[in-house]
Amino acid sequence: MLKRALLHLLKNAPPIGPAPKWHARLSSGPQFTEGPVLTKPPKTPSGLNIPIERRDFIHGSGLLGLGLGLESHALSSTEGVLHPPTYPPSLTGLRGSHPGSFEAAHAFARDGLALANPKQDVDHFDAVIVGAGISGLAAAHYYRQQFGNDKRILILDNHDDFGGHAKRNEFHQGGRLHLAIGGTHNLEYWQFSHTVNELMGLLGVDIKSLRAQSEFNYGRTGRHAHSIWFDRQTYGRDQLIKGCSLKGPPSASPLPYLDQFPISAAARQELRQFYEAKTDCLADMTADARSDFLHSTSYFHFLRDKGGLGDEALQLFAKACHGSWGLETACLSVAEALDEGLPGLNLVGESADESDWSYPAAFFPDGNASIARLLVAHLIPKITDQADATTIATAPFDYQYLDQPGHPVRIRLLSTVTDVRHTDQSVSTTYIADGKPRQVRSTHVIMACYHSVIPYICPELPERQKQAQAYQIKYPLMLTNVLIRSRQPFDLLGIDGTTCPGRMHAGLFLMNGINTGGYRHHLTEPGATVVAFWGSLSPPSTAVDLRSQLRASRQRMLDLSFEDYEIEVREVLNGLLGNHGFDADRDILAITVNRWPHGYSHEYLDLWDDDYPAGQAPHEIARARYGQIAFANSDAGASAYTHTAIEEAFRAVTSLASST
Ligand SMILES: Cc1cc2nc3c(=O)[nH]c(=O)nc-3n(C[C@H](O)[C@H](O)[C@H](O)COP(=O)(O)OP(=O)(O)OC[C@H]3O[C@@H](n4cnc5c(N)ncnc54)[C@H](O)[C@@H]3O)c2cc1C
Repeated sequence: MLKRALLHLLKNAPPIGPAPKWHARLSSGPQFTEGPVLTKPPKTPSGLNIPIERRDFIHGSGLLGLGLGLESHALSSTEGVLHPPTYPPSLTGLRGSHPGSFEAAHAFARDGLALANPKQDVDHFDAVIVGAGISGLAAAHYYRQQFGNDKRILILDNHDDFGGHAKRNEFHQGGRLHLAIGGTHNLEYWQFSHTVNELMGLLGVDIKSLRAQSEFNYGRTGRHAHSIWFDRQTYGRDQLIKGCSLKGPPSASPLPYLDQFPISAAARQELRQFYEAKTDCLADMTADARSDFLHSTSYFHFLRDKGGLGDEALQLFAKACHGSWGLETACLSVAEALDEGLPGLNLVGESADESDWSYPAAFFPDGNASIARLLVAHLIPKITDQADATTIATAPFDYQYLDQPGHPVRIRLLSTVTDVRHTDQSVSTTYIADGKPRQVRSTHVIMACYHSVIPYICPELPERQKQAQAYQIKYPLMLTNVLIRSRQPFDLLGIDGTTCPGRMHAGLFLMNGINTGGYRHHLTEPGATVVAFWGSLSPPSTAVDLRSQLRASRQRMLDLSFEDYEIEVREVLNGLLGNHGFDADRDILAITVNRWPHGYSHEYLDLWDDDYPAGQAPHEIARARYGQIAFANSDAGASAYTHTAIEEAFRAVTSLASST
């Protein structure tokens, strides 16, 4: 997901990177506004008791659910919706961090619950890799490249599917496959290094052709432009305002539409003055002072102080960065927010150009899950028949080949690693599969999992390294995909997506127009389609600093039941489309909630992180090789991107190769 880079517009703005410290964070820092409370209609509203396949039957099963993740798909089906029984991408209900995937790590690694004696695996591997995300899969490729194709590798992952965040959702309806992105969206190819380009070349990924075959742009361009939907529960009436955006190019300025905003006249007037202003409130500052101000002042503080906005107007912007950052806008500095495309350049003597919003996306229809699939097909060719980058999205994958004795690379799912430590000549890895502890030995271990879990798993690491890993708390994200019977209500309304400043998910868009990887679902095709609800979860107002906010959001995401998510999407779709022939009872065919409580890697923020001298930043300390254990994952680069996950895999493997 692209983060804008408008900073070049800011006079004398320093290059993106370490920013001046902000020493008085809590006194004049962000004022947190709680997101609207999730309002629930009376339990079991009409339609909720319909026994459709989208129910999540094992949520709340806790430890009983360990190892049972694959059973959640054994559900009945809605009319016309078919689900192959043991194929993880087509499972609905709570996915992403699905029930059964995280409980063992929490109980045995984090909370230290005692384990019975693990059963020793007979196999000895050259490398055990913890985490089957893009980084773990790329690490397996680089390990073979650097140590030899005959090397034996075991990849362990706690989920029932490979790919980490790079997951896909499949819906089978009316005889056709509807693909949706379950986590990682697109390739930010303009940032690719030589290493990443080389791997993409090996996998046959042709960015130019991906670009040429995509009409998709989050519902904002193509046939339809920006829009904002104000909902009744938050704003008193349901109102869609087309043609404008709170965070968008000059042509989508809300100024001509402010009279229609269902907020108080006073708040509308504040917004009008704010958008109309043309001034440079920093004009009397030196270049250094200006830069210092932009990086050390909270954006919300700036909006209040220099923009004259009060709480009611500020609330509109509170979730504007949920999708792109996974946090509240109030956490960003002025520089970060303006860089994001939020309004305010006009207060510092600047203006943006329409072209700054052109979005050079390169997508597969299942997001970067296709990259994960290409990697798996490269590592375990038997899993699919002759899939390449032009067919990968629709190529059938036979999961029985993931973990075959005798094959040099094995991927073992539903296996949570709880302990890794050196023994005499090797490294011993304890993991839980099928609810039972097992142990495997290997020459090397590559930790390609989240860094914040590693201190619980690798007790022998130096304290400083463990603290640095624990520091890398991730930003939570969620992507709820809803298969609806027809896109016609959207067509009647004249939108392909909208932002919802008052709702739990800050935006939604139709998931079609990506015709790559052998998959075709054109933007205008009639019939069933997937609506993607996208964003993060606002923390409670009691969480006042960044880290407690991230933790609280993460916990809230896990605490909500499938029904909570379902109620939310039903309310939104009925409110938005109800006057155009949509009826949630009839028209929602399936729901898949992709929760990512550990989402984007921790990227350093102006207001919350210190300036670190080269080599001393937490991610640099966290990723130092320790004996025969190396550390990959996008956390190792403190950058939430697929290319970072790949680069860090390369660095981790190289660090092992150079030590032998
Ligand atoms: C919703 C979402 C959207 C995103 N969009 C984009 C985008 O558009 N473009 C982009 O470049 N990046 C995007 N990202 C960032 C994404 O994180 C990276 O691109 C990349 O997929 C990270 O890969 P990884 O292998 O480093 O980590 P992960 O994908 O997190 O993989 C690590 C794996 O290790 C597993 N693991 C953790 N602990 C254990 C344990 N104890 N035992 C076994 N396994 C364990 C995890 O469960 C996971 O499966 C997005 C992320 C999210 C969540």
